[in-house]
Amino acid sequence: MSPEDAERKMQFLFALRSRGVTDARVLGAMEKIDRGPFVRGLFAERAYDDTPLPIACGQTISQPSVVGLMTQALEVSPRDKVLEVGTGSGYQAAILSLLARRVYTVDRHPRLVREARVIFDELGLNNITSLTADGCFGLSEQAPFDRILVTAAAEDPPGPLLAQLKEGGIMVLPVGQSDTVQHLIRVRRTASGFDYDELRPVRFVPLVEGVARET
Ligand code: SAH
Repeated sequence: MSPEDAERKMQFLFALRSRGVTDARVLGAMEKIDRGPFVRGLFAERAYDDTPLPIACGQTISQPSVVGLMTQALEVSPRDKVLEVGTGSGYQAAILSLLARRVYTVDRHPRLVREARVIFDELGLNNITSLTADGCFGLSEQAPFDRILVTAAAEDPPGPLLAQLKEGGIMVLPVGQSDTVQHLIRVRRTASGFDYDELRPVRFVPLVEGVARET
C-alpha cells in the first residue's frame, strides 16, 4: 500500500469512529472491504469520503458511516443468515458477508444485481447470493432470516419482512416518506411480538414496489 493509500484508509476509519462506529468486528470488515470498486466513473476519486455517491439506475451508495452504524445496529454474528433488501452497489452486502455465514441480497434493478455480482466474484465473496426481486416481499424461499437489513426507505416495515424474521431476530430499516424525515428503526422479534426502537434520522432512496425493467 502506498503512503497515500495508507493515509486515506486511516482517515476513512477515523471518520467512521468519530461518527459512532465503534464495534471492532464492523470496523475490521470495513477496513478489509475497499469501497473503491463499488464506486465507478466520475465519483471514483471520492470513494473514501464519508458521503453517499450516485451509482447506476439513479440510485446511491450509502454514506460509509451510515453503513457502519446500520451494520453495528444489526448485531450480526458469524452463524447468521442475513437478507439485505437493496443491493445497490453491493458495498453493504460485501461488508455483511465478512460478518455472517450467508448473505442474500436483492435489488429491483437487474443491472445493479449483475454488476454487484461481478465484484463479489472478483473479491471471492462466495457466501453472497444476489438476486433480482421485489424485496418488499422478502425472499420466502430462503426464509426465515436471523437478520434483515433494508437500505431503502418504506413508510412502514413491510409485513412480509416482519414475517420472515426469526424469533430473536433483528431487522434494521429506514422508515418514513422519501422526501421528508426518515428514521432508522431497529425491530427485534420476541416470543410474543415485535419490539421497536428508533435509532437516528437518516435519508435513503425510497423502497419502490415491483421489479424494474431492464434499461
Ligand atoms: N445497500 C446499497 C445502497 C442501496 S440504495 C449499497 O451498499 O450500495 C437502495 C437500493 O434499493 C437501490 O439500488 C434500489 O434499486 C433498491 N430498491 C428499492 N426498492 C426496492 C425493492 N422493492 N426491492 C429491492 N430493491 C429495491
